Amino acid sequence: MDRIVYLDNAATTKIKPEVFEEMKPFFAECFGNPSAQYGFVTPVKKKIELCRRNIAELLNASEDEIYFTSGGTESDNWAIKSIAEKYKTKGKHIITSCIEHHAVLNTMKWLEENGYRITYTPVDKNGIIDLDFLQKSIDDETILISIMTANNEIGSIQPIKRIGEIARKNKIVFHTDAVQAYGHIPIDVKKMKIDMLSASGHKIYGPKGIGVLYVRNGVKIGSFIHGGSQEFGLRAGTYNTPGIVGMGKASEIAIRFMSDNEKVRDTRNLLLKKIETEIPKVFLNGDIENRLPNNLSITFEGVDSEALLTMLSENGIYASSGSACTSGDTKPSHVLKAIGLSDKDIKSTIRFSVSDDTTADDIEYAIKVLKGCVSALR
Ligand code: PLP
Repeated sequence: MDRIVYLDNAATTKIKPEVFEEMKPFFAECFGNPSAQYGFVTPVKKKIELCRRNIAELLNASEDEIYFTSGGTESDNWAIKSIAEKYKTKGKHIITSCIEHHAVLNTMKWLEENGYRITYTPVDKNGIIDLDFLQKSIDDETILISIMTANNEIGSIQPIKRIGEIARKNKIVFHTDAVQAYGHIPIDVKKMKIDMLSASGHKIYGPKGIGVLYVRNGVKIGSFIHGGSQEFGLRAGTYNTPGIVGMGKASEIAIRFMSDNEKVRDTRNLLLKKIETEIPKVFLNGDIENRLPNNLSITFEGVDSEALLTMLSENGIYASSGSACTSGDTKPSHVLKAIGLSDKDIKSTIRFSVSDDTTADDIEYAIKVLKGCVSALR
């Protein structure tokens, strides 16, 4: 294949060379188990704590509020199941949204099967949750509100500060799945009154299989993975040192990069402008203002998205029809359904997600191919 244009960065990102370089010694010369007592592992311990500091800094949290996990899925499971267990004597009611990632939705489903009552807040046509509905859903038994910071399919950014204020006023724990938002848009857990937050390394040009759960000091959580005394005795398992180092370095880069993420937004806007001007009968899904800078969700009316994705990939262009975890699923996207798309339009929708490496030249090539494929399929 002559050329590859990777436009599926919401599924995963390519690791940055400087992140990979930083990780390398921790596979080889600094291989020691950081839980050991001898001096050989002191640099490893120090590095892990430095990474925890970078992550805390990105969120305006304290180091002792950052717990390393195996990724966003584990962080979501841990946050939700742990609050459900710890606060069950107060009540068994949880509020979430109907557009969450399956890491949250299937955890809620499991809790429902185990006697919990779950309220799913609807969203408007732009994918922004109905705050009034959320507020009215709170009752004496509500123990947790879990609403994602930004959606993985349509990029919509939720009014997190408002949700945090509502939760705090009602003395309810507020968890947010920030896997798509962490390192891409500014998040301040103090200002936004966030009690728990999930993040993942592989969405920010870091490695896969590493994530973080932020837990505000004062929020009671229990152990989720039982075993040794790592992570303040709450998350057992030998440290994934290279992964932690990668996530720490990627977070450090994100701190610098986020103040300058107009480049990503400009690239995404260029792609949108070209699609809208060069391809007829298309529309954008989600809010253009309250939206992740890298995300586009486009419906190509009358075009089968699976056929289009196949044609695009034959030409080296990689995008997706929605969440990477549900591709191959025959069920229409619950997110696109929630914003009111017909089944027909859902089957004609593609998600493009650019990176800070995507160039104007990549966009030119992608548009040329896309135009040809759409017209051939129509
Ligand atoms: N939450 C959201 C919003 C996601 O987009 C993803 C991954 O795509 C996850 C959770 C799961 O994260 P991980 O792949 O790190 O388990």
